[in-house]
Amino acid sequence: MAKYDYDIGIIGGGAAGLTVAAGAAQFGAKTILIEKSGRLGGDCLHYGCVPSKTLIRTASVWAHTRRSSEFGLPGLSLPPVHLGKVMDRVRSVIDTIQRHDSPDRFCTLGAAVRFGKPTFTDDHEVDVEGNRISAKSWIIATGSGPALPPVEGLAGIPYWTNETVFSQRELPGRLIVLGGGPVGLEIAQAFQRLGSQVTIVEFLGQILGPEDPDIADILRTRLIAEGIEIHTNTAAIKVESAGGVIRLLAGPSQGEGSRQVIEGDAILVATGRNPNVEDLGLYAAGVNYSSKGISTNERMKTNISHIYACGDVNGVLPFTHVAGYEAGIAVSNAVLHLPFKADYRKAGWCTYTDPEVASIGLNEKRAQKEGTEYRVIEETFRTNDRALAEGETQGIIKILVDPKGRILGAQIIGPRAGELIHEWILSMTAGVKLSTIAGMVHLYPNLSEISKKVAGDLFATKIFSEKTRSMLRLLLNLKGRACEIS
Ligand SMILES: Cc1cc2nc3c(=O)[nH]c(=O)nc-3n(C[C@H](O)[C@H](O)[C@H](O)COP(=O)(O)OP(=O)(O)OC[C@H]3O[C@@H](n4cnc5c(N)ncnc54)[C@H](O)[C@@H]3O)c2cc1C
Repeated sequence: MAKYDYDIGIIGGGAAGLTVAAGAAQFGAKTILIEKSGRLGGDCLHYGCVPSKTLIRTASVWAHTRRSSEFGLPGLSLPPVHLGKVMDRVRSVIDTIQRHDSPDRFCTLGAAVRFGKPTFTDDHEVDVEGNRISAKSWIIATGSGPALPPVEGLAGIPYWTNETVFSQRELPGRLIVLGGGPVGLEIAQAFQRLGSQVTIVEFLGQILGPEDPDIADILRTRLIAEGIEIHTNTAAIKVESAGGVIRLLAGPSQGEGSRQVIEGDAILVATGRNPNVEDLGLYAAGVNYSSKGISTNERMKTNISHIYACGDVNGVLPFTHVAGYEAGIAVSNAVLHLPFKADYRKAGWCTYTDPEVASIGLNEKRAQKEGTEYRVIEETFRTNDRALAEGETQGIIKILVDPKGRILGAQIIGPRAGELIHEWILSMTAGVKLSTIAGMVHLYPNLSEISKKVAGDLFATKIFSEKTRSMLRLLLNLKGRACEIS
């Protein structure tokens, strides 16, 4: 008789858990996936990437419609937005994708799916509502939930989080957004564009804290131009709700300064994420964890060598593509016993505001923090023909190179930055040189020509230097400048 019921047990049916389940089952491991919520897909599908990107697209259509006269079209006076109809579209996109994440599909792939709440009884066994299930290896992929800031009165008012915002039906006249990170900014811009007056309250000195200040400033300028009010260096202190009006008391996050009251009709809390580590019985399994998540090594192993943790729950990088990447590492190790390790230098991210902000590798902040010597080369979208044609010229590309000219990182803020960054992800993953990018024939007219241009900048100063010109004059008998208009 087999020692365990399953080869692989997975807890959590989101981006990470589903990737592990599909991989493990297709490799022939007897696999069970346990999900507590009653449906598969996790945060990304139900409360994250999918609804937010769908909402952003709708808001972008509306924002472009409002800009019609900039494109030589008649100016339009637009009616108010019916948020319920907008959210119906969000719902329909989720439903379409949900079909792909159906339990039947995973069953067809060879994995059992069990809905219920598992608790470890020891390091090989969980209890799911009275039923004991054992597995040789376990993969914990329970994701994260919204972190609530310590604001007096918050628990007593009807605040929104990413788990409730996409089921709202009434557009608030005024929306307060706590948090100027990716989640807060994406939703803030979408609601502003749909017709709310949005105020963002951010504790740090800049929005998008991990990004370089010049990049964050470009976005801040754009959001303010669209009418959003932004308070950085500001702490939310106390909040109350009376007669449908929310009153937030805010003050300086550091030092002395005056306090102010910000009023809104709704408030969204987007102040970070908490890994879902509670109620799993991790003590019984002997798995170490903290409020930052379940720590793992590069092979996704916890301190218990047959228990792995991947996705948001390990607290490393809270993105769906990272969850998928880590899940692949976990499958390689747990199923195939191949000692693959995660290399987070390959993992970029994007904030899907307009303009988008995409990043891979080192930016100036991170390079300075780790003491890496770097040099910056930069180009703007203002001189990109396609950006001009599309009326989307705000933004820059910023490449960090080491003293030998090797690529350390790429930051792009601009139209479709989330697509453009892939040329740089490939370059950094495959060790492509800047000279290769500079020599590539990019199709005209495209936004991606900005990548060729910025790569070429490093060589242009050397190639067209006075030293090279003097040498060529001498060697090839060139006659030099001929600046004359007749
Ligand atoms: C508003 C928003 C927008 C986002 N947009 C993007 C984006 O554009 N791009 C991007 O890359 N990332 C985005 N993210 C992040 C992305 O959603 C997460 O990184 C991703 O969902 C993490 O996947 P996961 O598998 O770790 O967790 P999840 O997808 O959340 O899955 C965890 C699953 O575990 C289940 N679970 C939890 N506890 C238990 C338990 N005790 N027992 C059993 N099951 C349990 C949950 O119900 C859930 O189904 C966004 C996040 C938010 C909040």
